[in-house]
Amino acid sequence: MRRKLIVGNWKMNGSHAANAELLAGLQAQGPWVAEVAVCAPFPYLAEVALSPQGSLIAWGAQDCSAHEAGAYTGEVSAAMLAEFGCRYVLIGHSERRQLYGETDAQAAAKFAAVKAAGMTPILCVGETLQERDAGKTEQVVARQLSAVDFKDGVLAYEPVWAIGTGRNATPEQAQAVHAFLRRKVSSDTPILYGGSVKPQNAAAIFAMPDVDGGLVGGASLVAKDFLDIVKAAGT
Ligand code: PEP
Repeated sequence: MRRKLIVGNWKMNGSHAANAELLAGLQAQGPWVAEVAVCAPFPYLAEVALSPQGSLIAWGAQDCSAHEAGAYTGEVSAAMLAEFGCRYVLIGHSERRQLYGETDAQAAAKFAAVKAAGMTPILCVGETLQERDAGKTEQVVARQLSAVDFKDGVLAYEPVWAIGTGRNATPEQAQAVHAFLRRKVSSDTPILYGGSVKPQNAAAIFAMPDVDGGLVGGASLVAKDFLDIVKAAGT
């Protein structure tokens, strides 16, 4: 069985004090059966990378520019992240798509930039509740995936209606979409589920045959919850 991957997404949360407490909480708990990574806000990436647990926890960014360098005020390039040892970059998270109007084409360009810099992109795909109710789930995730020249990446199925809402997809709902996505990518592509993963539901979701781990938002901010989720992936 493939080793599961659990990725925490801190979103726009954190402070020196909170990060130190969270990282200390994770410290001394590894090594885990699952691979663990956290995607922190840009200013805190070095804190995660340099934390004593840094060798056990991979780290990633939540976004990056599609451009190599130049007059793009406020942007951070993939090459800059790679220079610091960043392993993963989230691409096309639904909050980027919904709040900042990020398009499939932009996600594709960022995906390519991350790969060109030698890192692993985590492409997020997922339908809104309206799209699910209209029976368009497969159509939407297929469109988001096919827009990208997807190779050597991680795929994350994140139904928009489950992100930060406390309403997770059932294990069966997740499995159905993962099985659909599995047919579209190479067999060794990790496919993560994201959307209100909590210690109480993690084991059942991770037990599904095509769920290779989780992308965890809110629960990754509480050390005990995140560790319980990581442990659920290792059973
Ligand atoms: C996310 O941020 O990608 C996410 C899935 O958030 P949450 O776990 O809080 O739903």
